[in-house]
Amino acid sequence: MSVIHIETKSREEVVDITEDVRKALNGKNGLAVVYTFHTTTGIMINEAENGLLQDIMDRISSLVPRNAGYRHDRIDSNADAHIKASLVGNSVIIPVENGELLLGTWQRILFLEFDGPRRRRVYVRVYEAEES
Ligand code: ZN
Repeated sequence: MSVIHIETKSREEVVDITEDVRKALNGKNGLAVVYTFHTTTGIMINEAENGLLQDIMDRISSLVPRNAGYRHDRIDSNADAHIKASLVGNSVIIPVENGELLLGTWQRILFLEFDGPRRRRVYVRVYEAEES
């Protein structure tokens, strides 16, 4: 088990954590679980092209605008961040073979911050497969 530490720098941000996850594999094969401990962050696999990342964040923001009368804002002022995180999901599973992540050419593991800047933690563990 490894924990990746991420310090985000703005309220909303995408961080490519592919290399951090790769370093956390420790030569094991099986299924890598990458899981965020937070309720206002998400994890997804997609292409890390800057225009696309901005498009994704802009579209999520237009779906879930800030301060739109959410009940949770009465206690925490970050309901939009929780809703955005719940749309994206809080984990991904990636096959690992020969000690390498099985990612397609353009696939990257992306950490999405919706309520930064904050210190964040992402859990990585490879659940080893039985050889058949
Ligand atoms: Zn909250």
